[in-house]
Amino acid sequence: MPVDAFSDQVTDVLVVGGGPSGLALAAELAALSLSVRVVAPHPPQPFAPTYGAWLDELPAWAQVCTAQVWTDVRVYTSPQPTPLLRPYALLDNARLLAALLERAGEGLCWTQGRVTGAEQRGNLWHVRGEAGEEWAARLVVDASGHGGLLLPTPFEGGAALQTAYGIVAHFARPPSPPGAMVWMDYRTPHLDPADVRAEPTFLYSMHLGEDRYFVQETSLIARPAPTREFMQTRLYARLEALGTPPHDTESDEWVAFPMNAPAPVPGPILAYGAAAGLVHPISGFQVAGALKDAPRVAQAVATALENGEDAAAAGWNALWPPERRAARGVHLLDLGALLELPGDCLGDFFAAFFRLPAAEWHAFLAPHTGVRELARSMLKVFAHAPNAVRLPLVRAALAHPGVSLRALREAARMKESARFSHPPDAAAGHPGGMTNSDTTQREANSGDVDQQEVIEEGMQGAVGNVNADGLAPGVDREEKLEELRENMAEVSGQQQ
Ligand SMILES: Cc1cc2nc3c(=O)[nH]c(=O)nc-3n(C[C@H](O)[C@H](O)[C@H](O)COP(=O)(O)OP(=O)(O)OC[C@H]3O[C@@H](n4cnc5c(N)ncnc54)[C@H](O)[C@@H]3O)c2cc1C
Repeated sequence: MPVDAFSDQVTDVLVVGGGPSGLALAAELAALSLSVRVVAPHPPQPFAPTYGAWLDELPAWAQVCTAQVWTDVRVYTSPQPTPLLRPYALLDNARLLAALLERAGEGLCWTQGRVTGAEQRGNLWHVRGEAGEEWAARLVVDASGHGGLLLPTPFEGGAALQTAYGIVAHFARPPSPPGAMVWMDYRTPHLDPADVRAEPTFLYSMHLGEDRYFVQETSLIARPAPTREFMQTRLYARLEALGTPPHDTESDEWVAFPMNAPAPVPGPILAYGAAAGLVHPISGFQVAGALKDAPRVAQAVATALENGEDAAAAGWNALWPPERRAARGVHLLDLGALLELPGDCLGDFFAAFFRLPAAEWHAFLAPHTGVRELARSMLKVFAHAPNAVRLPLVRAALAHPGVSLRALREAARMKESARFSHPPDAAAGHPGGMTNSDTTQREANSGDVDQQEVIEEGMQGAVGNVNADGLAPGVDREEKLEELRENMAEVSGQQQ
């Protein structure tokens, strides 16, 4: 990849930003024989954050750019784990960068600089750098990250942030089950229930091999968001309570980004990646979607440029088909509900969520799921959740009447098919009833239960009392293994 090879040359496209999204789109555009300039304040360098993704959501070429893949992936919303049976990957950022640059080939040039503005004169865009540079291009893509530089994102009610504090460290005792990836651990027996209610956080943890772990205390979404110091203290308090203090900490990471971006309006500049609000409003994921969307958006842009049409509009249409825009509305409604939910109900919410059939919760967290499917899943979670979770969901729906009506109209059409496939005891979310998860959560949060016992029980895989894949005792292993085989076959593209 030439650095500054185009010098003063006009390029077909100028991409502001050298993060995974901007580079993914730039690479696909260059692969289509367009001349592309990436402007970023830094030289090409491996992306800094710890990126995770569901393996099946990564395009095939990126599945080899993984540092590690876990098949034992779990969630804890009670002392017993819920196995997710969906492989999860940690991206190898150096390999991802190399693969993107290789895909781009000679058509991409990297210019180091900081963009301050852009204006259109005639058929060309003139992009200004802070050192007085000016670069001309036929199309400008804003891939400058969260909030957007040239197209600032309007966050309704202010930005609602996902925040997290994580470390890579060594542990004399495993802080989470060896061999496993813990996607969410909402158990907090070590905290005062009032603190959990006010500031809910969970553990996201990856076993990196031997005694190395990445452990991260995460606040899914909050407005205002907790501070870095708060999250750091929470992480260390959890590790202390587990009896697993870290040693030889290698690195730490602070995560803070907005989750409530609306779909951007079409305009003369194309936004992409986090700058386009492509972060999933419930999970916070974005990278896999940006890698996967890039070829389609690039093709639309290339065709428009070739035909002398509006390339920004073509890219926007490819990125935001009407179905996706409507789905964003439903997701923002769900996000509003999560913000309203008292913190100690989040575990129950996700317990209900992960009781959805696997295909449904996969779809709910995917970037391109249609409004009907989302609304159907939401209704099922609603029906399955205890009252403490339902009421805030209703309040959120009422607070966003436009979105709610759209979602409910869609939901009404599919009412008939919204039936549960769960056993009756698991689905006992009727008004006034106490579900299993009600009881467990309350016990876990009360002082009646020996905290160490709860931790030890939940950490059964970690302390070696049961198999390292320590699934809940009630789980039908054959059935689960069959499901895992199917999931793996789907991921690898192999037929059963
Ligand atoms: C620490 C952290 C961990 C995350 N973990 C995950 C995860 O596990 N999975 C996931 O899917 N998502 C994750 N996210 C969310 C999101 O996917 C990432 O933020 C991702 O980096 C967004 O990619 P991007 O390329 O759109 O923006 P960024 O990665 O933010 O890249 C923006 C680029 O624009 C450049 N830039 C900014 N301003 C200018 C300017 N004025 N001129 C020129 N260039 C400029 C930056 O230097 C950078 O190169 C995480 C976010 C953070 C912060």
